[in-house]
Amino acid sequence: MRNLILILGDQLDSDNPALTGSDSTSDGIVMIEAAGESTHVWNHQARIVLFLSAMRHYAETLRSRDLPLHYLALDDAAETTLAARLRGVIAQCRPEKLIVCEPGEYRLQQDIEQVCRESAIALEVRGDSHFLCSREAFAAWAKDRRELRMEFFYREMRRRQDVMMEDGQPAGGRWNFDTDNRAGFTKTGPGPLPRPPQFAPDAITRDVIALVSGRFSQHPGELDDFHWPVTRADALRALDDFVEHRLPRFGQHQDAMWTGMPFGWHSLLAAALNLKLLNPREVIAAAVAAWRKGHAPLAATEGFIRQILGWREFIRGVYWLDMPGLLEANHFGHDRALPAWYWTGDTQMTCMREAIGQTLKHGYAHHIQRLMVTGNFALLAGIKPQAVHEWYLAVYVDAVEWVELPNTAGMALYANGGRFTSKPYIASGAYIKRMSNYCSSCSYDVKLKTGAKACPFNTLYWYFLDRHEQQLARNPRTVLMARNVSRLSTAERDAIRASARNILETLG
Ligand SMILES: Cc1cc2nc3c(=O)[nH]c(=O)nc-3n(C[C@H](O)[C@H](O)[C@H](O)COP(=O)(O)OP(=O)(O)OC[C@H]3O[C@@H](n4cnc5c(N)ncnc54)[C@H](O)[C@@H]3O)c2cc1C
Ligand code: SF4
Repeated sequence: MRNLILILGDQLDSDNPALTGSDSTSDGIVMIEAAGESTHVWNHQARIVLFLSAMRHYAETLRSRDLPLHYLALDDAAETTLAARLRGVIAQCRPEKLIVCEPGEYRLQQDIEQVCRESAIALEVRGDSHFLCSREAFAAWAKDRRELRMEFFYREMRRRQDVMMEDGQPAGGRWNFDTDNRAGFTKTGPGPLPRPPQFAPDAITRDVIALVSGRFSQHPGELDDFHWPVTRADALRALDDFVEHRLPRFGQHQDAMWTGMPFGWHSLLAAALNLKLLNPREVIAAAVAAWRKGHAPLAATEGFIRQILGWREFIRGVYWLDMPGLLEANHFGHDRALPAWYWTGDTQMTCMREAIGQTLKHGYAHHIQRLMVTGNFALLAGIKPQAVHEWYLAVYVDAVEWVELPNTAGMALYANGGRFTSKPYIASGAYIKRMSNYCSSCSYDVKLKTGAKACPFNTLYWYFLDRHEQQLARNPRTVLMARNVSRLSTAERDAIRASARNILETLG
């Protein structure tokens, strides 16, 4: 064999660069299901199903293109790691070279390099053309910048890619429509909600569901409601449905939360994008076309484009720039274990119960639930970043390390000391009250900051300010927080510390 082409589980684009120039007479393709990939963090069952089912559907398309394929299904093979199974295929096929598109995870890239070294074969890692900004282009942009700020990267990407630009200026004369977006709901709530499409499991997905429910039955999460797109055709339908029914109100309610509202007007496209069933270019083009024909307002469209062209590309750039150090980052030296109820949702806090509950049911929570509810709590409670990272990587269907880790360690936990955020994203219960109806049905009182009935977010927020007062006073973006805490009397501080200790002791 000349070339063995490795297609990883999150590289399911039909024009995967590793396939370019392949020759069916001399090359082979390998796809590997490895139990280790489902167990290296305690994966949600829906995440395992999504990856395996999407891989098996993709393999069908390769077979129909007559490309010689070695598909290693999950079985009882002694080797459970991807590296061990790959080593076995290489020993069997004896290729001259392994070709792979840039993996989405540093650990896998290291493993693959090691297997090739040990097997004494050449390795060609091809750039991932799925992304609009290559790793190298991002590193060049970041070089010599004291601070990495998404906003400046995003503006450059808009210009470079000519997205929503008019005569060299951003459409509507502004780069940012955040002030028009991100409102909460009135007391009457969201009103009638759009119903995202449900993709009923076909025979392949049903087989995988049976496999996962048997083999990974102890893993968290439910499978009864598995409805995610696992093929390109379904992913395209999901995109059309979003643009038609939810994009027009996407921005307005982007940050709002409500009991029993898992999805709101969000796109639910991250999983399909991260598996590469969708290309960001076509997602951007569909949104821009809807705006051009007057179907979606400018603010909503800009708010959405900012996520795909801005945040998604930026976060990937940061990941490859800062690995492997990002995995160990722990700016505040936090070392508390993750409370067990992060895996069950069994807590009296309505906001946490809702965010975790829908995560276990669907493998999904929207950005503000991840950042300002579960992430905010983890930061305020001083939970070890590595434990939080493993939770986020495990429980979301869209989780892949290149996007999950910078969001968790960098954005939610400030574990990298503000490498790309100007201040820690911390908030008391007042923020959650403003953006949701959670507090009205909670056992805790969002108006109190100390005592047994006090909202834990309030107590822990003030305790955080108390602990980090000096550091916060040095940052112009947090100096006001430091000033607020400096006004507390000794008695108030003592009460906060005592209440916080009570909460933290019960976390287990
Ligand atoms: C702690 C934490 C962990 C996260 N883990 C992941 C993860 O594992 N995988 C993941 O794809 N996203 C992650 N995000 C980012 C974001 O929350 C999800 O992309 C989003 O909630 C997915 O839902 P959606 O597809 O409905 O997105 P929408 O709200 O509809 O947004 C549209 C798209 O923009 C992109 N996007 C939006 N925000 C971000 C962001 N901050 N970083 C990168 N891309 C973004 C996604 O591709 C998303 O599909 C995380 C955020 C936080 C705070
Ligand atoms: S009162 Fe506090 S714990 Fe309860 S829902 Fe509101 S913010 Fe969450």
